[in-house]
Amino acid sequence: RITIVGSINMDLVARTPTLPAPGETVLGSGFRTSPGGKGANQAVAAARAGAEVVFVGAVGSDTFALDLRETLVGAEVDASLLREVEGASGVAVITVDDAAENSIVVVGGANETLTELTAEELAAVAEADVLLCQLETPVATVVAAARHARANGTLVFLNPSPVQPLSDDLLGLVDVAVVNRDEENALGVDALARIPHVVTTLGADGARHRGADGVVTAHPSPAVEAVDTTGAGDVFAGTLAAAWRDGPAAAIRRACAAGAVSTTRDGAGASAPTVAEVDRALAG
Ligand code: ADP
Repeated sequence: RITIVGSINMDLVARTPTLPAPGETVLGSGFRTSPGGKGANQAVAAARAGAEVVFVGAVGSDTFALDLRETLVGAEVDASLLREVEGASGVAVITVDDAAENSIVVVGGANETLTELTAEELAAVAEADVLLCQLETPVATVVAAARHARANGTLVFLNPSPVQPLSDDLLGLVDVAVVNRDEENALGVDALARIPHVVTTLGADGARHRGADGVVTAHPSPAVEAVDTTGAGDVFAGTLAAAWRDGPAAAIRRACAAGAVSTTRDGAGASAPTVAEVDRALAG
């Protein structure tokens, strides 16, 4: 069982031939909304990977809230602790041009209200096998969740994204860090050396694992025709947490395959594969 304390956003994606300059108005060629937020994406991926998932987070009182809740429920994520707060849900306003260049504004909205955990939310952390967090919600809450997890024998996974310097406090509470190359570089070897397991995703090259014993292992990713790599890191993290009880090597193998399959279709959490799809990818 996995408890995720994290973000949930609506992505508002406008396509336009060229990105507007400050003060300019351009005509767009298309628009779609799609549910996102690293926390929600990873929750959906972990549920598709077969885990029982409880989501702790917040949506607003706007029209996006219902869709966001439905995304979790539709993926069989337990959303009974999802808070509904006054104000705006988290959104990402994304503009993508014909050269696939983008500009993005993320407004935390309801996610920013997650400054303290209730007794019920803390109980969900204590009862889980794994706690999985990212850094799109207030970091003090991540620290509090991790501390409560540690005190109750729950394994702490952290995907430190968007990356920011981690306090000694937090570094000392993480069992497994899931980072991409940029995050690995930004955090630096000294900080990461304090975490027992570091799993680094390497895009098409798969992933690398450094275990508590210091041994480094490379794990290839199945070769695929990638069409949209958005959310591949989230699919990887959710799958890894779901499969970790089978041991790091088996879990990373599945996470690589799930990440690879997710790049063959559009969307973030929505592109996460099922257990059967991952089995098929691994069978080649
Ligand atoms: P992020 O999106 O966080 O930068 P990565 O790009 O490293 O993360 O992708 C996460 C995982 O998704 C990789 O470890 C890999 O398993 C899979 N993946 C991503 N891009 C590709 C690709 N082009 N081909 C195959 N697998 C991919």
